[in-house]
Amino acid sequence: MTALDVPRPAWMTEDLVLLEEQARRFMRAEFSPHVDRWHEDGAYERETWAKAGAAGLLCASMPEEYGGAGGSFAHEAVIIREISLAGFDAFGAPLHSAIVAPYILRYGTEEQKRRWLPKLATGELVGAIAMTEPGTGSDLQAVRTSAKKSGNGYVLNGAKTFITNGQHANLIIVVAKTDPSERAKGVSLMVVETDDAQGFRRGRKLRKLGLDAADTSELFFEDVALPAANLLGHEEGQGFVQLMSELPQERLIVATHAMAMMERALELTIAYVKERAAFGRKIIEFQNTQFVLAECKTEATIAKVFLDHCIGRHLAGELDTTTASMAKYRLTDLLGTLVDRCLQLFGGYGYMDEYPISRLYRDARVMRIYAGTNEIMKLLIARGL
Ligand SMILES: Cc1cc2nc3c(=O)[nH]c(=O)nc-3n(C[C@H](O)[C@H](O)[C@H](O)COP(=O)(O)OP(=O)(O)OC[C@H]3O[C@@H](n4cnc5c(N)ncnc54)[C@H](O)[C@@H]3O)c2cc1C
Repeated sequence: MTALDVPRPAWMTEDLVLLEEQARRFMRAEFSPHVDRWHEDGAYERETWAKAGAAGLLCASMPEEYGGAGGSFAHEAVIIREISLAGFDAFGAPLHSAIVAPYILRYGTEEQKRRWLPKLATGELVGAIAMTEPGTGSDLQAVRTSAKKSGNGYVLNGAKTFITNGQHANLIIVVAKTDPSERAKGVSLMVVETDDAQGFRRGRKLRKLGLDAADTSELFFEDVALPAANLLGHEEGQGFVQLMSELPQERLIVATHAMAMMERALELTIAYVKERAAFGRKIIEFQNTQFVLAECKTEATIAKVFLDHCIGRHLAGELDTTTASMAKYRLTDLLGTLVDRCLQLFGGYGYMDEYPISRLYRDARVMRIYAGTNEIMKLLIARGL
């Protein structure tokens, strides 16, 4: 399913085409039938994770020795797109598989990788990353959550908010200060296994403008005792550097997701305007409709070519933060415009919740805000001018 005619990029191997087909079949059979209910309930079930894990759709880029499928970011990109094309934009799997697991793979000790990655791959563990606090978001170096040395371990105190997978997660990477007198140099990544964590509390599942089924939440840590082995990696003070080096991939995940939402919006709109009639003609027969959709398709095609180029560079280990920031900023901005224009072609039905275009419109809004706001993207791009 796609409204675009962009040829497959060179990185899309036969193996990935098969993954795409398998993921699409799985989504259609297992997830699509429930998406409306999850949306109505404002939640999806915890078993969803185990189902995705059993279908090989979690941690596809993790090495096989740690329970993954031994793939690359291309595998994650294919899966992210299929989740979105199936209308399950609220599923926190992209963050779990392509953000949380890579932190552990890249910076974790051998023991940490063996302990956590196989369970993330099955969905027994659901991952989250807790950076944002009520008092700080964009200015990550100013986090107040602290991890103080105590005996052989640490004691964690602080509050986090807007955390994706906040209700389901039982493995949370918490951005904390091991040295509060420092800014970037004082930041460390602490891993909290919540199942037995005394002093850990989940706050509200937050009510939001969109992504209704997503369990975005507040989290509280009050004197949570952590063993030294839960500091990610071998050394304190590395958190900020670790966060920064993973940014290109995080930005690419959001860009990939935004692209899939544009494809879906176009597909739904083209189908609708071919069906609906006014003044004795199909809506698609009005020149305005044709021009709007011609413009949307052109912009989306350019975006897809750029995204494919960025993914190719990332797979070659050559994607810089500036280019990744361009992809995140431009594609999420374009998504906002494109969905708005598509919705207009639905008339009043576009405003009705049961029409997926209305959900796409709401769900799209956050993409300009999270994973670094688009203003922060522009700051990063401007630094290289
Ligand atoms: C649905 C959802 C899911 C999320 N998931 C997670 C998650 O899993 N983990 C997590 O840690 N966080 C998550 N977030 C938080 C998100 O990353 C932050 O909201 C975002 O980084 C912005 O931080 P803030 O909300 O504190 O805004 P602020 O930093 O207060 O920014 C407010 C405004 O000021 C602008 N601004 C800030 N600094 C500058 C500057 N230097 N120059 C110009 N403009 C500036 C911003 O662009 C923005 O427009 C999520 C948020 C949402 C809404």
